[in-house]
Amino acid sequence: MSTLYAGGWIVTCDDAGTEHESGWLLVEDGLVTGAGGGEEPEADDRVDLGGALLTPGLVNTHHHLYQTLTRARAQQADLFSWLRELYPVWAGIDAESEYAAARTGLAELALSGCSTVFDHHYVFPRGRTGLIEAEVQAARELGVRIVASRGSMDHGVSDGGLPPDELVESIDAILSDTERLSGELHEVGPGARVQIAVAPCSPFSVTRHLMTESAALARRHGLVLHTHLAETLEEDAYCMQLYGFTPVEYLTDLGWLGDDVWCAHCVHLSTDDIADFASSHTGVAHCPTSNLRLGAGIAPIRQYLDAGIRVGLGVDGSASNERSDLLFEVKQALLVARGRGGPEAMTVREALRLGTRGGAAVLGRDDIGSLEPGKCADFAVWRTDGLELGGASDLVAGVVLSAPHQVDRLVVGGADVVRGGALVHADEAEIARAHRVQARRFAA
Ligand SMILES: [Zn+2]
Repeated sequence: MSTLYAGGWIVTCDDAGTEHESGWLLVEDGLVTGAGGGEEPEADDRVDLGGALLTPGLVNTHHHLYQTLTRARAQQADLFSWLRELYPVWAGIDAESEYAAARTGLAELALSGCSTVFDHHYVFPRGRTGLIEAEVQAARELGVRIVASRGSMDHGVSDGGLPPDELVESIDAILSDTERLSGELHEVGPGARVQIAVAPCSPFSVTRHLMTESAALARRHGLVLHTHLAETLEEDAYCMQLYGFTPVEYLTDLGWLGDDVWCAHCVHLSTDDIADFASSHTGVAHCPTSNLRLGAGIAPIRQYLDAGIRVGLGVDGSASNERSDLLFEVKQALLVARGRGGPEAMTVREALRLGTRGGAAVLGRDDIGSLEPGKCADFAVWRTDGLELGGASDLVAGVVLSAPHQVDRLVVGGADVVRGGALVHADEAEIARAHRVQARRFAA
């Protein structure tokens, strides 16, 4: 069964940055088989794009879906005070609330054009099971791809860490549960719908021993490895005090840096840190809205790109970025880069590339992020006939600069996830109602 999506502006995000202003995309058995302009090829079915913009599906590289339950808290707090206020609230998480939270965050992301979601879950109150399974189920039901991490914390407040003791686990429990989830859920190879990553939370909530053991486990099983890093200056000072290293020196000392690793934030990297990330091929999940919301600073992404570092975008958890909208994050990345480095610091197309190819590269995926023969047919269709795009002849710039927008259509593996601006496999209003029932349990 082949389908031709024709009569739109096709952005492929291939190496050459090819676009077809009046073009088509051919899809067969869930894969892209061609893209071009001019004469249309034969297909079993033809979908008229009506002048819309078609881009690769966006790839989110950092989130905490459970945090949709606790939005708009600790409104003026910096990272550590924000965490201290929220940890005890998050201790209430269970599989039922995680499922409602994941459905909400994943639906928001899908409606913003996101086809692949990385989630960093690290809160595992003792005795609560099925948390990762709940978010994977939500992703399967909605039809998006998920890379779910078995995160962890083992450095509680009584040992000098930041999280309360009731939220830390033993190393053995963490490692054996990670191996179990990898065995049960992790898919290998092109087109994987569900993958498991290993993601100890941060240098201030995880012991040195767990950091080392997590990397060894991930590398033994071929899983990607992730953590938070260099988000705030306080974190820098904390690391110096505790380990005698800056955050990046600490990761280097642990043998963590590598092409199977990406770190969230990286707001405060020195020139030497940047060189270490580049030479080790370590990636970065840039989360500009969250960094602005917590007053953490602005990551020097232009320098990272010039150094050849892999960079993707993340909306981050909904307690530090209340809106899970990845197209808006594309625009935000552009704006903060220019706020830091002037109008030439980033082009519209570079920003869009961070949200597509960049995200795929960060997750170690070469089957998604661009629309080329043999890649997964994951793409977003953006209407261009609304009020905000009138007068824009460059539709790529028009859509990015006037974001946010709700996607008209989202296709994952050739199948519709969003059609006519609505979720195909779920009801948005029902998700919102069920989420509020759960969120009431976490109310301040
Ligand atoms: Zn985060």
